[in-house]
Order: sequence, then structure tokens, then C-alpha cells
Amino acid sequence: MVGLISNPRSRFLKVKCSDCGNEQVMFGSASTRIICQVCGKTLADPTGGKAKILTKIISVLE
Ligand SMILES: [Zn+2]
Repeated sequence: MVGLISNPRSRFLKVKCSDCGNEQVMFGSASTRIICQVCGKTLADPTGGKAKILTKIISVLE
């Protein structure tokens, strides 16, 4: 295998809650459910090692 997997979900992501607009940073391969720290909305669900993002991704942090 050559090269790295360029899946942005293996990095830290800045996401924005689609309900309240809160922005927070999460790990793209989070193994636990990510909830909005303000309103409690589910922002990402763990699915087999990678988080399924349920809200808007603003940026990917290197
Ligand atoms: Zn929220």
C-alpha cells in the first residue's frame, strides 16, 4: 500500500450544529456519539471506527 488514506474523517473536524449554530471540534473517527455542547443535538454517530457526521463540517484541522 502506498500513500495515506486521505479521508478527512480520520482527522479533527470543526463542525457546526445545524440547530443552534454552535461550533465545536471533534475527532473524525470518534468511537462515541458526539453531541452539541450547547443544545444536545447528536452531531455524529460512531459507525465501525469512523464517525458518521450528521451536521455541517466547517473545516478539517491538520
Ligand atoms: Zn446545538
